[in-house]
Amino acid sequence: MIYFDHSSTTSVRPEVRRVYSQLLETQYGNADSLHSMGRSVHQLLEKSRENIASMLHVLPTEIIFTGCASESNSLAIIGYALKNKSRGNHILVSNVEHPSVQNAMAFLKNFGFEIEYLPINSSGIVTADLVQSKLRKDTILVSTMHVNNEMGAINPVEEISQVVHQHPTCVYHVDCVQSFSKIDVPFSCIDLATISAHKIHGLKGSALLVKKKNIQLMPLVQGGQQEQGIRGGTENAPANIVLSKTIRLALEEQKEVYQRVSKINEFIRMELNKIKEAHINSPEEALPYILNISFDQITSEVLLNALDQKGICVSAKSTCSSHQRNYSSTLVAMGYSEKIATHMIRLSFGKDNTMQEARIFIDACKEIIKDYGLSL
Ligand code: PLP
Repeated sequence: MIYFDHSSTTSVRPEVRRVYSQLLETQYGNADSLHSMGRSVHQLLEKSRENIASMLHVLPTEIIFTGCASESNSLAIIGYALKNKSRGNHILVSNVEHPSVQNAMAFLKNFGFEIEYLPINSSGIVTADLVQSKLRKDTILVSTMHVNNEMGAINPVEEISQVVHQHPTCVYHVDCVQSFSKIDVPFSCIDLATISAHKIHGLKGSALLVKKKNIQLMPLVQGGQQEQGIRGGTENAPANIVLSKTIRLALEEQKEVYQRVSKINEFIRMELNKIKEAHINSPEEALPYILNISFDQITSEVLLNALDQKGICVSAKSTCSSHQRNYSSTLVAMGYSEKIATHMIRLSFGKDNTMQEARIFIDACKEIIKDYGLSL
């Protein structure tokens, strides 16, 4: 099987799996228990937090463990807005965010917040100039993803951050799920940042929120003292402990995997450019891990199933919306026709993909085109 769907999720690294299962067997105590097993789990958990903080160049108290990036995004957005309502009620967000951001924003409308959507340009990004032009006295939060999950477009996070931080009452939230460990994330200029373990060969149900120390949040899960009282509930200690290993291994390989994936991306682009039927939708300068393509006369669903039958896994759009509308709203927001948006598939590459798989993919596409009686 060829797996080109790493933006949806990834395999768990054997090293992570091994340590996790050891922890489940031996360190099952509650991190808040006062006995020796509890204290030992607590120590391992805090060591993991310290290691993660040091790799991200933030403080240990700025790491909040959560259950998924959707929870981190919800906590960042709803938690910040509700806690800081007295500062203003205007929020800026890009118009192509993951549903966890979009729906958190929609939820806030019920509490009187005014949500203003920032249109992406034809390269799939929000510009700092646009953010500047939309900031108001009562804007308290700006939220943009770092890398778009459908196109791979990379937002200019550092530039946007400069604009946001000229504004005294405004903070910047960035969904870094698709960028973390693929390109450098400038955590120093982000107030609230989201990372998910299962996108970087870690466990599902494990994620974190980087929350800078001056930021106050309203907890969404009310509970005990865990995670500074911001996220109640017994810690998922084994998952939180192995997250530091997951992150370390991903960061260690970042440059090498980037180069390998770039070659696969370049090869597929070059070969598809020779095929009349095929279009590349991802911008040239997009993250090489994500390649959005479409075929003129074959719809997403048909192409996805035809590739699936040949043992190749791809996505027809962002996986979290795959059971809803049948076109990509990101492509439409970039100015593509609805036809292209209903014909697109997303290839997303990972550390274990090879050039041989890229060649097999191209051959499979040619066969599918021929099977449909279309010319190459
Ligand atoms: N943000 C982005 C950009 C994503 O691509 C995803 C998942 O696809 C998420 C957030 C949600 O991550 P999780 O599955 O950990 O909730």
